[in-house]
Amino acid sequence: MLSYQHGYHAGNHADILKHLCWQAVINRLKQKNKPFNLIDTHGGSGCYSLDSEQANKTGEYKDGVVKLDQFSPQDPLLVDYLAALALYRNNNEYPGSPVLAADLLRANDALHVMELHPGEFANLKGVLKRHKGQGQIHSHFRDGLEGLVALSPPKPNRGAVLIDPPYESRSEYQAVINAVKECLKRWPQAQILIWYPLLSARAGDKTGESEAMCQTLSRLNHNVLQVELLAQDKDADTGMYGSGVCFINPAWQIDTILTNSLTELCPRLGTQCQHNVVWLNHTES
Ligand code: SAM
Repeated sequence: MLSYQHGYHAGNHADILKHLCWQAVINRLKQKNKPFNLIDTHGGSGCYSLDSEQANKTGEYKDGVVKLDQFSPQDPLLVDYLAALALYRNNNEYPGSPVLAADLLRANDALHVMELHPGEFANLKGVLKRHKGQGQIHSHFRDGLEGLVALSPPKPNRGAVLIDPPYESRSEYQAVINAVKECLKRWPQAQILIWYPLLSARAGDKTGESEAMCQTLSRLNHNVLQVELLAQDKDADTGMYGSGVCFINPAWQIDTILTNSLTELCPRLGTQCQHNVVWLNHTES
């Protein structure tokens, strides 16, 4: 039984971190004139109205994307991300990871999106039909981790994966590790981004699980970069005070690119906001 719905959280600080990382990876792939494949294992419903009852029940977007209104950053990645948001901001909508990627594809690039919630999948399919990019888009009503392994390696094998589960149960952390291992056996060059929450006691304090997952991933004999955004001070009652993205096989200079973006972004999200960009495993090639 799937109960998580991303409409309550769309446009919050965690989405900003995740989507900035996803945009950074896609930008790097587009620097070469060779096609690529993207796989988004947990797509959600694609695009979110910030006028919806769900969005306004939590109001999380007000501490996220709303703080980026009238922001004119210098950093090129932030400029690109704000341009992607601007396509939807006039309608008070927020583009999720599948729409962000779909809008950036070139004609020979491909995107595979998986989603298992029937209602979210129906929305996703409709939204992807209206996307503003030009690549090949495939939506799959299936388990995202099982689908990732089944589609690995895609042809061409140049590409990236976003894994963004709801982590409703503690077993999802181990399921992610297992799927990443299987994916890398078949597709060792995959750039894989795994999003994870940093939660206080009120929200179930699964930060230990997130840290343990990153440590396990760092021992897989691949370069692993950890990027975290700590949007709020942590106390027992904060809920989700931050989040992170664990990158496997990150593209060259992604660490510098994201450090520069987050350095300019954090003050905009609040004086308490901090970021960390740390190599958990790094072998120079
Ligand atoms: N990646 C999206 C974005 O950034 O816009 C948000 C995804 S949301 C955090 C997680 C989604 O995973 C939910 O829509 C949920 O229905 C879906 N989901 C849960 N379990 C799943 C599974 N086993 N396979 C695929 N999707 C699943």
